[in-house]
Amino acid sequence: MAQDGGPRSQLREVIAQTCALVAPRQCPCGQEGSWLCERCTRLLEAAPCRVESSCDALQVLTAARVREEHHGGITLPAGVDHSPLLPVLALGEYGGNLQRLVLAWKNGGMLHLGTRIAPALVPAVAQLAMAADVAAPGLVPVPSRRSAQLRRGEDHTAELVRAIARTGAGHALLLRSRPTTAQDGQGARQRRTRRIHLDGRRARAAGRRAESVIIVDDVVTTGSTLRGMHDALTDAGMQVIGAVVVAAARLPTPASGLEHVA
Ligand SMILES: [Zn+2]
Repeated sequence: MAQDGGPRSQLREVIAQTCALVAPRQCPCGQEGSWLCERCTRLLEAAPCRVESSCDALQVLTAARVREEHHGGITLPAGVDHSPLLPVLALGEYGGNLQRLVLAWKNGGMLHLGTRIAPALVPAVAQLAMAADVAAPGLVPVPSRRSAQLRRGEDHTAELVRAIARTGAGHALLLRSRPTTAQDGQGARQRRTRRIHLDGRRARAAGRRAESVIIVDDVVTTGSTLRGMHDALTDAGMQVIGAVVVAAARLPTPASGLEHVA
């Protein structure tokens, strides 16, 4: 309440109190007594970890060698090298209680959990901003599909971005965008990238300023949505300095950063 005293959150609190009279408060993990138990609170306090190397759709080809090459005593095997398109920070793996928390927040009518998730993402935003030497990056939510918005009644990633912006870590940059479906006459290769069209005056203005932005999403799986958003923002003239998500479907294994992604 102290961090987020807007009328909407007050209303949410009233609803929460009213519901608590009928049913006890329950954490998404099943623990009764609070909306977020101590154990799940600790999940949100995790240090952000880099996950881009485990997102297939974020890998771009950086070198190709038809035969083994030697450079200054280092032998590079024949094959191709990939590097990730952008850094992606997550709080943890999408599974167990973190998954229950995310699902309760986005689909389970517990939108108020966003006010707990937002401060948890601030260190990740700060880390990317510091690495890029940017004071207050624009925070761009990935567009929810219209059907999902209608079903949930609210755009949860836009709401999350507003809550992060209220902490001062960056400013909300809510852009008008049209997600296109993956099957729009695309070949198998392009289908890995979800194409997103940005339009509207705000996107054009941010592009002219070459604004530094961070993409914010709930869960990253292959990274195809982040890639689509990255490409749309870059095409509009913005500098994408990274992405922040709550959870990643797969965390990189300790050595995977050194592997060649074939
Ligand atoms: Zn819990």
